[in-house]
Amino acid sequence: MFSKILIANRGEIAVRIIKTARRMGIRTVVVHSDADAGSMAVEMADETIHIGPSPAAESYLVQDKIVDAVRRSGAEAVHPGFGFLSENPVFARRLEAEGITFIGPNPHAIEAMGDKITSKKFAHAAGVSTVPGYMGLIESDEHAVQIANEIGYPVMIKASAGGGGKGIRVAHSDADMAEGFSAVKAEALTAFGDDRVFLEKFIIDPRHIEIQVLGDKHGNIVSLFDRECSIQRRNQKVIEEAPSPLLDDATRKAMSEQAIALARAVNYDSAGTVEFVAGQDRSFFFLEMNTRLQVEHPVTELITGVDLVEQMIRSAAGETMAFGQDDLKINGWAIESRIYAEDPYRGFLPSIGRLVRYDQPEEGEHDSPIGTYTVRNDSGVREGDEISIFYDPMIAKLNTWAPTRLGAVEGMARALEDTHLQGVGHNVPFLAAVMDQDRFKSGQLSTSYIKDEFPDGFKGAAPDRRRIDILIATAAAMNEIISEQSGDPSDRTDWIVLIDRDAHGVTLGYDEEEALTLDLAGEDRALQLREIDWRPGLAQFRAVLDDAPYTAEVARIADGFQIRTGATKARVRVLTPRMAELFARLPEKQAADTSKLIQSPMPGLVVSIAVTVGQEVKAGETVAVIEAMKMQNILKAERDGVVKAVGAKAGDPVAADDVLVEFG
Ligand code: ADP
Ligand code: ADP
Ligand code: MG
Repeated sequence: MFSKILIANRGEIAVRIIKTARRMGIRTVVVHSDADAGSMAVEMADETIHIGPSPAAESYLVQDKIVDAVRRSGAEAVHPGFGFLSENPVFARRLEAEGITFIGPNPHAIEAMGDKITSKKFAHAAGVSTVPGYMGLIESDEHAVQIANEIGYPVMIKASAGGGGKGIRVAHSDADMAEGFSAVKAEALTAFGDDRVFLEKFIIDPRHIEIQVLGDKHGNIVSLFDRECSIQRRNQKVIEEAPSPLLDDATRKAMSEQAIALARAVNYDSAGTVEFVAGQDRSFFFLEMNTRLQVEHPVTELITGVDLVEQMIRSAAGETMAFGQDDLKINGWAIESRIYAEDPYRGFLPSIGRLVRYDQPEEGEHDSPIGTYTVRNDSGVREGDEISIFYDPMIAKLNTWAPTRLGAVEGMARALEDTHLQGVGHNVPFLAAVMDQDRFKSGQLSTSYIKDEFPDGFKGAAPDRRRIDILIATAAAMNEIISEQSGDPSDRTDWIVLIDRDAHGVTLGYDEEEALTLDLAGEDRALQLREIDWRPGLAQFRAVLDDAPYTAEVARIADGFQIRTGATKARVRVLTPRMAELFARLPEKQAADTSKLIQSPMPGLVVSIAVTVGQEVKAGETVAVIEAMKMQNILKAERDGVVKAVGAKAGDPVAADDVLVEFG
């Protein structure tokens, strides 16, 4: 076994690898860029080596710097994590030539599965079912249109070298096709330096289901079963689970057999993932193979008890796998939520900034009203850390496990309530909304889930009965606590709780268990609130409402509280009946008119402004391009108009909501 390994990665995956290495008694070396000099991974590693400026192209992607760091540290092997150099066969070969072990599959397997065209041909030859399509060279737009007609619309245009959901587009017509083909080709050249593009049938309303495989250098290959990753935005996963709610045993077995056949065909000898799209009828087709550890590997670890990083290290060191297929069983259900610094209220655009507050759920076993669940939180940042524009905006991967799927969903809802972030836009309210949806609970998943369920984008969720009760009880209790501490406590028991503008009358009291009771006016019902854990100044309010624990995010605003429970955010005021009456007569505040403005949807850099003052612009025309976190966002005019003012120029840094262009 190795005594020291180098981790050629950053963030939560570097932290994840350190944890296993440490448990195995292996020393770790972490390389880092300028931006990561004080990172959590750097703090945890036994040794660290600075490898250059913040942009990945000048640090994490420079093979010479990684190899030099291996030499200087005396590490015997390199774990590449995911992204960066993890699927680069040139890097794997280079290490081999230098006598350094690559903790991943053999370079031949990486190469064979490295691009989508080659791997699809390989899969087809290995007897794996593939999406019908055209894998040859496409010479022109006209040629692309002709092939698309042979396949039949809708057709997916894909960059052979694509990854991370980039370089993919759907065409529904000849016009889409002609435009999309050139666009994907150009995008692929800039993003991946490879403009090969292919076409395949777009499977309608599919599910993304994948098989985790594991091999060693002695010809053993097993399947660690399936994961479903259908909850996606921009063709990229946000919520994953294992096993898939769609599969029955026969389909699971068939999928596993195909995945193993493909792995066998390339002498696969590490952890890898064979991805499929599946129809709702359980038909399935090969998409691609990822020859690396996958972001969502924890859900597989939770249902199988196998540590995939440990197995990768062991197989790289030449050990024989200590278990066979018959030793592996699916135990319970696991769900992963990717917590991203991105703003769900603005089309999931990346967000950057300093994490001024970061409270995380406790790991380990918890109780809930419907049973116990286990929390695993793979985080790569700490409170006070900066989420920068240089890398992937993932903050953490929150996982829950329970004996049943509903238990894991319920556990996730609770764990998300216990995740509190401030300073950057984040997707926790969105994840909470999904956990609350009956469709998600029933397992009726599809890759169009987000589009189906949030057709106009995410706008938070209207409170259901339980959330309304939480809002009333939380606000009333906070009001009591503040009053008690004021030195002049009020002995009033009758209050009106206004949720936005909805009035709820309550009468407060205390029962024999000293719990706060709230009699709801006009309803034959009382709420009981106990184990209240809050004092003025705290941003989280914890309590047990009618026997179910919850955590709400709270802040004081001018005349009341801002409270978020799950996906519901509301202004809540606790008023005397007289005040409530006065309040009801106040006119509702009108939101400012922003219809004539084009504002930056996120903090970033202005790439270009396409218009000048006085110019006539038609709806749909590009007005400006903003870039943040390697993502370009093209802003278009929503209606015809004449430009009255321009607020920024190319190269300017801008904040969210900064006005770029104003129409007259
Ligand atoms: P998964 O492991 O589930 O496939 P992602 O698709 O999100 O997860 O990709 C994992 C990581 O690798 C992300 O950080 C993503 O940005 C990066 N990545 C994957 N493929 C590529 C690629 N071809 N080029 C650049 N980055 C990639
Ligand atoms: P990447 O390398 O970016 O992960 P994939 O080929 O795995 O690219 O595709 C990413 C996602 O795009 C899939 O998870 C699926 O949601 C969707 N997708 C890909 N191919 C198809 C297809 N032929 N039909 C329908 N959806 C597809
Ligand atoms: Mg994929």
